[in-house]
Amino acid sequence: MPRRKNKPLKSNKVRSKTSGSNIPNNTITLGVGTDPVTNLESQISKIPAGRSNKEYQCPYCNQIIPKSASHIVVVPNEMPDLRRHWHLACFNREYKP
Ligand SMILES: [Zn+2]
Repeated sequence: MPRRKNKPLKSNKVRSKTSGSNIPNNTITLGVGTDPVTNLESQISKIPAGRSNKEYQCPYCNQIIPKSASHIVVVPNEMPDLRRHWHLACFNREYKP
């Protein structure tokens, strides 16, 4: 049985608050940016198609993001509970890096 390696954690990462998160592990981190909704510094990730099994409501167009659709998730560093799931196109329209 392979043991889990004890990698050192980056200092600004990991808040135990997020342990109940339903964000899939296999997101693609795009970087840190300002969440257009909360204006908080946030982790921005892409969820590949087939990696989510829930529907989400996009904060930009208020339409549903279908299950397993590729989309963007924005997680404010200070308030991970305020994470939002965006359509790719909506996020690209609203987000100004
Ligand atoms: Zn949208």
